[in-house]
Amino acid sequence: MWRGGAVGLFCAGVAGQLGKNILVLDHAEILGENIRNSGGGRCNFTNLHSSPVNFLSLNQHFVKSALARYPSAEFIKLVAAHGIDFHEKHQGQLFCDDSAKQIIEMLFAECSKGKVTIRNPVTIKSIQQEGDLWAVATDDGLEKSRAVVMATGGLPVPAIGATAYSLDIAKQFGLNVIAPRPALVPLSFTAETFGNLNELAGLSIPVRIAAGSKGRRYGACRFNEDLLLTHKGLSGPAVLQASGYWEEGEPIHIDWLGAIERPGGFNCDELFNNEENRVKLSETILASVLPQRLAKAFADQRGLTGRKWAEVSKKDRQALKELLTNWSVKPAGTLGWKKAEVMLGGVDTKDLDGQTMISRKNRGLFFIGACVDVTGHLGGHNFQWAWASGFVCAQAL
Ligand SMILES: Cc1cc2nc3c(=O)[nH]c(=O)nc-3n(C[C@H](O)[C@H](O)[C@H](O)COP(=O)(O)OP(=O)(O)OC[C@H]3O[C@@H](n4cnc5c(N)ncnc54)[C@H](O)[C@@H]3O)c2cc1C
Repeated sequence: MWRGGAVGLFCAGVAGQLGKNILVLDHAEILGENIRNSGGGRCNFTNLHSSPVNFLSLNQHFVKSALARYPSAEFIKLVAAHGIDFHEKHQGQLFCDDSAKQIIEMLFAECSKGKVTIRNPVTIKSIQQEGDLWAVATDDGLEKSRAVVMATGGLPVPAIGATAYSLDIAKQFGLNVIAPRPALVPLSFTAETFGNLNELAGLSIPVRIAAGSKGRRYGACRFNEDLLLTHKGLSGPAVLQASGYWEEGEPIHIDWLGAIERPGGFNCDELFNNEENRVKLSETILASVLPQRLAKAFADQRGLTGRKWAEVSKKDRQALKELLTNWSVKPAGTLGWKKAEVMLGGVDTKDLDGQTMISRKNRGLFFIGACVDVTGHLGGHNFQWAWASGFVCAQAL
């Protein structure tokens, strides 16, 4: 018995085709909404390079078994077998050429092949264990089965029906839940820390970003990705990636020049110590390595606009170098569940068997997909986790 999001439908299709009798129950009017909205409508359905290093979890080894048994290559084969054309965008990210709807249609077709019964919208009222069976009371009657698979996803996007139901059921049956937190989410800043950068909303620039640190919940990260300035703060792939590692009260670090591609890397001293630059205006020098609007904003911030480089004191140059290569700034917070793509935390992997996704505490109770304390990096890894965890669960039912 299931829920009908990405992992629920996928797992149901696989299990049905293994000859299992499957019923999918979901409270949503329309199934697969998270898939439909994903990847800008084209669904970044997996990543060619998906591997355990692309996941955050208190137990980093937990994903290994499922990912090894159902790697991205397997899902790509399935997509190709359904005649869905796709392309690689960036760092192994695979998107449908046409529409995310094709992935939803594929999942329904797989369910249909496995003679899966899908019932929605249905409200689940309670789940109880009755001897060897599970009794699921719904507003459409009582269902009994040998196994229940919880696949209600994470908390992002409450507007399309996200709930904490899997986490509630986990707690009801004695499993630990790691406190959930939004991730792959833009970060907000106070006016004081952000200064004049809010005037640059819409500007995107490749940067090197770092967040977290050793000993923190998910350790430290470093990404070379695009950063987007917005009215509320920072977004874009760089910041979304870093948001999972960032902890409240801690700074993030941005090297605005770190993603400049030069053989041997870019050395800031080239810019600062170049004799030819002495007679140039500060903002002109900055604009040789940064977008013009950002160069102007930095020069304004430091009171350097209109000043020749030769007139800038050593101390000011040092401060500018620090700003350009290691801007250490404390976000005020995240934009929350409404804007998050994924959830950090969830059902504690300590209480699950990574080979089957079954609860170690209850016979016949499984947790798969985004409700588990496994969160992927941006780039198709979250769907890959859904497919992999759904696949191993289906084999074990
Ligand atoms: C805007 C956006 C874009 C994204 N883009 C990508 C992307 O391109 N690539 C990628 O890898 N990941 C992406 N993600 C993340 C990805 O969508 C999730 O990781 C994935 O959908 C998780 O699958 P799931 O089946 O566990 O949960 P979901 O797909 O969220 O499915 C959960 C299902 O459970 C149902 N449900 C919830 N509560 C109840 C209840 N109480 N009773 C009955 N049913 C219930 C819901 O109706 C839903 O059908 C994106 C997420 C967002 C929000």
